[in-house]
Amino acid sequence: MRNGLVDLHLHSKFSCDGDFLPEELARMARDNGFRAIAIADHDTVAGYPKAIEAGQKYGVEVISSIELTTIFDSREFHLLLPLVNWKSKTIKSLVSQMKENRMEEAKVRVQRLREIGLELDWDEVWTRSGQNPPLGVKIAQILLDKPENRQNPRLKKYYDQDGQPFAPFLFYQDFFAEGGLAYVPKKYPKLEEVLKLAPLTGGVPVLSHPGAYFQLATREDLTYLKEIGLQGLEVYTSYHHQDEIEYYKKIAEELDLVITAGSDFHGRIKPGVKFGLIKEGDYSMVERLRERKS
Ligand SMILES: [Zn+2]
Ligand SMILES: [Zn+2]
Repeated sequence: MRNGLVDLHLHSKFSCDGDFLPEELARMARDNGFRAIAIADHDTVAGYPKAIEAGQKYGVEVISSIELTTIFDSREFHLLLPLVNWKSKTIKSLVSQMKENRMEEAKVRVQRLREIGLELDWDEVWTRSGQNPPLGVKIAQILLDKPENRQNPRLKKYYDQDGQPFAPFLFYQDFFAEGGLAYVPKKYPKLEEVLKLAPLTGGVPVLSHPGAYFQLATREDLTYLKEIGLQGLEVYTSYHHQDEIEYYKKIAEELDLVITAGSDFHGRIKPGVKFGLIKEGDYSMVERLRERKS
């Protein structure tokens, strides 16, 4: 029996790579028949409590969340914390530490791009990212939007594929990934440490998109993570094909992890991911997460 459609993984403007305000997301959720949504911005809870109020306005339950960027076994693992208490001291200190690290990373990235002759300046990046430390894809987007860069032969391929919507991602992989000309080593907290702190935040730790190309979580990884506090697995996501959905669903059931669903909708930056894309989310997922709340 279905209890109502939910999407437990959306990004708002506060993510710095999202296009919509929490209020707009709540309206879209209502228009698409959602009972509940979770706004899980990257490493920030700045959208709360406004997001909750916006939900009330549109009759959609907004579940507090955040998506934390962490390092596990030298890979980048994203962790959702649905039901997080955005006022908790633990989340505040985690977020401020991450903001500082990201700021440093973004500044060095912009510096490296300038050194190789690309047109970009930090003040512009800072303004256009809503005065939030921008992620690499956002920096790429700002760079590629600048008309001055259109003439640069080094950047030709990102414009040649006009209508190629993933240009900022391509740029990211070429320039910011390890080995790229503007590569900056990342300083994210260890997933193990975040899992240890999670109970203090009120959030229920759920691993985002385990099959994403930068994560590729194995059964062994998940068995270990469950032992140290992981409670849920995002099985239904725009990152997974049907075979990955089946693979992770089976593991989640075996390991007694709560299965969740989320589109990872951002807007323009992920044009392939339309609002309401993931239809498997059900309110019973929220109820199961609540049962796991410590
Ligand atoms: Zn993610
Ligand atoms: Zn996400």
